[in-house]
Amino acid sequence: MDLTLTPEEEAFRDEVRAFLDENLPQDANRADPGFVAEWQRKLRAKRWVGFSWPAEVGGGGGSIMQQAILKEEMARRKAPPLGSCFMGLTWVGPAIIAYGSEEQKQRFIPDILDGAYQWCTGYSEPDHGSDLGALQCKAVREGDEYVVNGQKIWTSIAMWSKWIILLVRTSQHADDKHQGITCLLVPMDTPGITVRPIKNMAGGAMFAEVFFDDVRVPVELRLGAEGEGWKVTITALAHERSGIAEVESLTRNLEALKRLAQKTTRGGRPASEDPGVRARIARFETRIQAMRMNGLRYLTKQLRGEPLGSETSVSKLLRAQLEVEMGDFAVEIQGAAGPLVEGAEAAADGGRWQKMALSWPEVVIGGGTPNIQKNIIAERILGLPKD
Ligand SMILES: Cc1cc2nc3c(=O)[nH]c(=O)nc-3n(C[C@H](O)[C@H](O)[C@H](O)COP(=O)(O)OP(=O)(O)OC[C@H]3O[C@@H](n4cnc5c(N)ncnc54)[C@H](O)[C@@H]3O)c2cc1C
Repeated sequence: MDLTLTPEEEAFRDEVRAFLDENLPQDANRADPGFVAEWQRKLRAKRWVGFSWPAEVGGGGGSIMQQAILKEEMARRKAPPLGSCFMGLTWVGPAIIAYGSEEQKQRFIPDILDGAYQWCTGYSEPDHGSDLGALQCKAVREGDEYVVNGQKIWTSIAMWSKWIILLVRTSQHADDKHQGITCLLVPMDTPGITVRPIKNMAGGAMFAEVFFDDVRVPVELRLGAEGEGWKVTITALAHERSGIAEVESLTRNLEALKRLAQKTTRGGRPASEDPGVRARIARFETRIQAMRMNGLRYLTKQLRGEPLGSETSVSKLLRAQLEVEMGDFAVEIQGAAGPLVEGAEAAADGGRWQKMALSWPEVVIGGGTPNIQKNIIAERILGLPKD
């Protein structure tokens, strides 16, 4: 693994840093919608949204290495996201680029890059989450349409999405459950779709149950061939877990955790002087570095043109464990103030640690639970017998 950047890559890093110096002042209000809209407009003008997507579809045509540099520099400066259509950019767009018709590419990719509207993801069902391949939401072809009946659940941002990428069953295969799954792109305002928001334990409602009752979807909105939706999904989800930018965000969280330990007192002294606290922080630091090394190893693989497969489960697992443990630890060192929530005057850092500690399901369960990641690592990387 050679970590030296080429002169062109160094020049690109300088360009990104100069852009950030000019357009992202330290005190910029990253939550101000006006600032974020202007930020997205500038990124789009530079073609940095969808930067590694082919130029023919409106992407930046950048290399994977440049994309990694861009994401790393942006995360380091706590920049607003690269584009505002999260699911569109992370898996719907890549799946359309890989499997979509020319018409689908022209219809959807520019809007995803512009963040014109949101996409949501209709994969999980009440009885099929980890065991996604056994999903049962059904679509029957009638002429030039599919008629969809069934239910999805935990559909993030369904309430304010215009489109859903939906997995349905078009045929049953006793020998292989992954066969007979088809991927459809469906407008959320199609008659027969009902969205029922679900409240989470941190008080927010960002996901929903979605019901399909005789929903008619034109055949031209099928993504990929009928029965090959599993292949489309695997390609799409692989884009979710490369991990380099997450390392930067974990590093920033750790820096904030160190500051918290410095300003929190234990027995009249800063908690950061406690050897136990120091040891825990050092261990977090070591594990974040291990995650960085893994990320670089995966990046090297991609640069060599080798596809990323099961090993991205290692990044997902490490990130989930670190976020949960760091959130819990931050609450723990605050002592009696630990349970204070956002809005309470005495809550440290505006209650961000409490929020992080309560939001763990987002990073732990969303996109596949730790047990499932461990199964993948055991079976496909370590070659252990199947569960
Ligand atoms: C914040 C959040 C956002 C989400 N957003 C979306 C979304 O936008 N779209 C979408 O489709 N889904 C979404 N999900 C759903 C998520 O993908 C599923 O919750 C997840 O895949 C787990 O499925 P499940 O909830 O059915 O749990 P189950 O599969 O029932 O698992 C329950 C428990 O059993 C364990 N388990 C299951 N099978 C095995 C096994 N073979 N070996 C060992 N342990 C096992 C699991 O690890 C878990 O601990 C979201 C979830 C969360 C929490």
